Amino acid sequence: MKVYPGQGVSGGVCVGRAAVWSERTYAEEDSQGQTELTAQAHWERFLKSRDAARDALRTLYIQARENVGEQSAEIFDVQAMMLEDADFCQAVRDAIFAQRLGAVAAVRRAGEQMAAMLGAMQDEYLRERAADVKDIANRVIRHLTGGGQEDEWTLPPYPCILCAKELTPAQTARLDRKRVLGFITAHGSATSHTAIVARSMNLPALVGVGEEAIHALREGDTVALDAERGRMCIDPDETVLCEMEEQQASARRHRAAQERFRGRETRTASGRQLYLYANAALPEDVEAARQGDAEGIGLFRSEFLYLGREEAPSEEEQYRIYKDILERMEGRRVIIRTLDIGADKQAGCLPQTGKEENPALGCRAVRHSLLHPSLFLTQAKALLRASVHGRLAVMFPLICSEQELRGILALWDRARGEIGGGGEVERGIMIETPAAALISDRLAGMVDFFSIGTNDLTQYTLAMDRQNEMLQPFLQPHHPAILALIRKTVDSAKAAGIWVGICGELGADFELTETFVQMGVDELSVAPSQILALRKRIAEIK
Ligand code: PEP
Ligand code: MG
Repeated sequence: MKVYPGQGVSGGVCVGRAAVWSERTYAEEDSQGQTELTAQAHWERFLKSRDAARDALRTLYIQARENVGEQSAEIFDVQAMMLEDADFCQAVRDAIFAQRLGAVAAVRRAGEQMAAMLGAMQDEYLRERAADVKDIANRVIRHLTGGGQEDEWTLPPYPCILCAKELTPAQTARLDRKRVLGFITAHGSATSHTAIVARSMNLPALVGVGEEAIHALREGDTVALDAERGRMCIDPDETVLCEMEEQQASARRHRAAQERFRGRETRTASGRQLYLYANAALPEDVEAARQGDAEGIGLFRSEFLYLGREEAPSEEEQYRIYKDILERMEGRRVIIRTLDIGADKQAGCLPQTGKEENPALGCRAVRHSLLHPSLFLTQAKALLRASVHGRLAVMFPLICSEQELRGILALWDRARGEIGGGGEVERGIMIETPAAALISDRLAGMVDFFSIGTNDLTQYTLAMDRQNEMLQPFLQPHHPAILALIRKTVDSAKAAGIWVGICGELGADFELTETFVQMGVDELSVAPSQILALRKRIAEIK
């Protein structure tokens, strides 16, 4: 048995066979070289994949032009043309026929060579095309290695524990829950969206085991994932298996004890009522919210509708999704957060911002919406049309100033004007920057509610990248500065007579529940699997 420590970021234990996702698909392809296929066969594979990538880009261009306008869509057209560039194709041909490389290695080499050449140009426009060459090479490689979509990985036919260097939030959200028992990654942090999504899915997850641990695994190995104690065991021995069975039995007992809180209101022992809502990322999560006994959806991360796809969802597609969510929640409040793209959630189908030195401080969330109003308007119109089918609230992410808030509210009003109606919709903002918390008294008069995003509030208050696993020893989630900003926000909400909730991960931190109740927080939005336990915890508070 080999044991590797890691950080459990989504509770639970499981034992199963490993499915190892690694760079091997590319590596195998490379190492095959041309031993199995002739140079001509590699060249034909390249041509076929290049054509598929080019067609996908053309479709993207047409859709993006409709959704975000000609200027932003243009890049897809340029990339489609670059794929047919004679120099690029000749470089791939030389690599295959003269250097005897396999198709994947040849495309990679041609991409790197051309990017280096363009990067050294005087002309700024040409220099900027270097990133596009790398992008088109990657697009062809994705088609060559079995799928146009970057998230199209394959799973074995048996239930497995997925082991990978890292997983993106989009890959995680799309995991088939019936086939994946849990996942282990070499890297990762507790407040990354990958970890948050795992908790929403109630999927055991262990991160930060290191690359050596992932390399030590072979496909099909028996592996034990213990997110409670923070360890991964390859070929677990009897003792470990017994410990894990005990943990599973104890978790079952806890769940049974929480069941008596199902269907009840959330009240403290002294009778004060709070509301327990669920966080969700995909429409499928609504079922988990209902099963978890959520009183509403407190945060629907709508950006997941845009991740891992080749084209942005249209107004009609979004309308149907939002309508369906509202109907399934049967009159309970559903808070949909408008597009919070950027940082660790990059959507290839959206206008790209170019390379950012600090993506977490970059063009994300409401800033992206203000810079791309037609994209926001499409979403706003879909939401407004859907609003007649249930109790909808919307909230805007990463607000830092009154000016931004005024800008986004004006766009919202414009969308309402354009569709000529829609139902009643509460409008709120996320308080997730120190700036917003500190001016929350001014912002409170402009909206119907606040929802505190403690994940970003922590990142921006402590100046600590939430993705960076090395910062774990410095992370103080209960830092007095964070609590002071939360208190200030709640006080501002109360003074203005609006309600205030918490939708960041601290909302499920039992050590803080009493503090939040005493501050006057009205609502907590957490992973569906945490709702009954939290209702039980609140019932103990005097
Ligand atoms: C937060 O920042 O606390 C939050 C809920 O939003 P996200 O985690 O999606 O950034
Ligand atoms: Mg946030």
